[in-house]
Amino acid sequence: MSRVSFNRKRVKLKKLLGIRARLALLGLILVAPLMLERARSLEDTRSKQIALASTEFAGLAKHSADMQREVISSVETVLKSAAYIRASDGGVGRSCDIMRASLPANLPWIRSLMIVGGDGRIQCSTNNMYVGLDLSDRPYLMKARETRNFVFSDFLLARPNNTPIVMAAYPVSAINRDADSVVLAGVNLDWMSQVMSNLGNRPGISAVLIDSTGTVLAAPSDQASMIGHPLDAVPLLSAIAEKAIGSDKAEGSLSFVAADGLRRMVTFARIAGTQSRLIVSIDEARVSAAINREIRTAYLQLGFVCLFVLLGALVAAEKLIIQPIEMMAATATRFGQGEWSVRAARGRLPAEFVPLARAFNAMAAQLGKRERELVATNDRLTVMASIDMLSGLANRRGFQSRLDLEWMKAQQNDSELSLLMIDVDHFKLFNDTYGHPEGDACLTRLGETLAGIAAETMGFAGRYGGEEFCLLLPNTDARRALEVGEMVRSAVQNLALPHCTSSYQTVTVSVGVACTRPNEKQQPGDLIEAADAALYAAKHRGRNAVVEHGFVRLTDGGMALAS
Ligand code: GH3
Ligand code: MG
Ligand code: MG
Repeated sequence: MSRVSFNRKRVKLKKLLGIRARLALLGLILVAPLMLERARSLEDTRSKQIALASTEFAGLAKHSADMQREVISSVETVLKSAAYIRASDGGVGRSCDIMRASLPANLPWIRSLMIVGGDGRIQCSTNNMYVGLDLSDRPYLMKARETRNFVFSDFLLARPNNTPIVMAAYPVSAINRDADSVVLAGVNLDWMSQVMSNLGNRPGISAVLIDSTGTVLAAPSDQASMIGHPLDAVPLLSAIAEKAIGSDKAEGSLSFVAADGLRRMVTFARIAGTQSRLIVSIDEARVSAAINREIRTAYLQLGFVCLFVLLGALVAAEKLIIQPIEMMAATATRFGQGEWSVRAARGRLPAEFVPLARAFNAMAAQLGKRERELVATNDRLTVMASIDMLSGLANRRGFQSRLDLEWMKAQQNDSELSLLMIDVDHFKLFNDTYGHPEGDACLTRLGETLAGIAAETMGFAGRYGGEEFCLLLPNTDARRALEVGEMVRSAVQNLALPHCTSSYQTVTVSVGVACTRPNEKQQPGDLIEAADAALYAAKHRGRNAVVEHGFVRLTDGGMALAS
């Protein structure tokens, strides 16, 4: 990478990382740890709340299972006591009477009690409708006889009216091996469902009691439609049934992704002494939906806080840093443009900028003073540069610029402008005779004389060079100029400065006069040339004379042509 492009990139980067961006970045850096900590605690809260919900539901499931267990064990106890009576008493009739009389009113889930004889027919029942019914082919009956133990059937449709029921069977042979009777109880599934009511009406929760084949025995009222149906017919719960039935554990929980793509947690518990299982499935997403909503709100709040922090940082930067800097820069710019009196308004600046403003104002005051001094010095120098120190008149430069000015004015006003070129006669001889310092003193005297005449005639006198002077006469015609020329000549002669090597014995001057009405065809130089030519003519005329350009007008009244 070339040095130039590297530098360009650096400049771009600097622009990007202006104070505003840097402060925003700083704000973010300051807020980031708080944000991260808050996000971490929110995520922590989320997982804790989900875990809490899962624990709560697992507890509910367990409680429900316990209640189911109590129901079933109460059925078992009732059957056992009936079986004892049947075993101890010889006659079925008496047993039946006792059984009917002892059908506990406080166990409403027992719909009916029956005694089945060795032939499989119901010998007696709390509900006479069932007497004589042949149950010999019922698996639960066969199993009870075979295992000589309490058996809880799968889901059944009770004959003759096809009501869903679960049968509990206890063989009398468990007490008396020779007995072939079996005591049965029809268990009311509605009641079983009621026991599960605490698991109902909870979004995301499905709770069912299933038998060994996976048929739903009981469910909370809001899921009652599932009762009697195999669990694997219910789309989302089929996988649960498979897992719960497949597990040989009495209870447990597992988590998996269901067909709808949602993660579910399943808690199952086997009801002791039966093949029934209580299954509680929790849709984690729905359970955590409320938690997620809360977390989302918290994140939104967090976002707003960050936004406000950033905005605050930017506004503060704008007000406290950028604006004062821009104000100072604007003041410095105005000052740089020549507004020497401009000062930084300290009152409108933050305290930290006041020393800078004070220093700037002091510097501005100092610079302003220097500038004024510089201007004054410059003016003085300009004046000095256009003044001849010896004669006290304008030097050639000063004269030239004044000539340009007067030329322009005369051209604008269409007025006449006259010029006198004045040369000291035989000045070389003067120097040779009296010495150079005396020559200087002579030039000074002549300068004073010319200044006096210039003031008198509204003219402008200058030292053109060496011993040559000039007098510019605005608004002056040739006649008047000639008169002034004569004034100069005679004034010098009247000074009576001794000049022994001159034929006039005093210092004299020759004067060349030129007059014009400046127009575009002429140049100021033309006027000088004309006056010079007239001067030359005056010299030629014998010196100590005044000659006008074009004509030689003699001081004694006669006129002569100069060129
Ligand atoms: P003319 O009448 O033809 O003008 O003769 P002139 O001698 O005046 O003219 P010339 O040009 O021969 O001599 C000019 C002299 O003026 C020469 C120089 O020594 C003198 N001079 C010029 N400037 C100064 C000055 O500043 N001081 C002194 N003392 N002499 C100066
Ligand atoms: Mg000369
Ligand atoms: Mg001369």
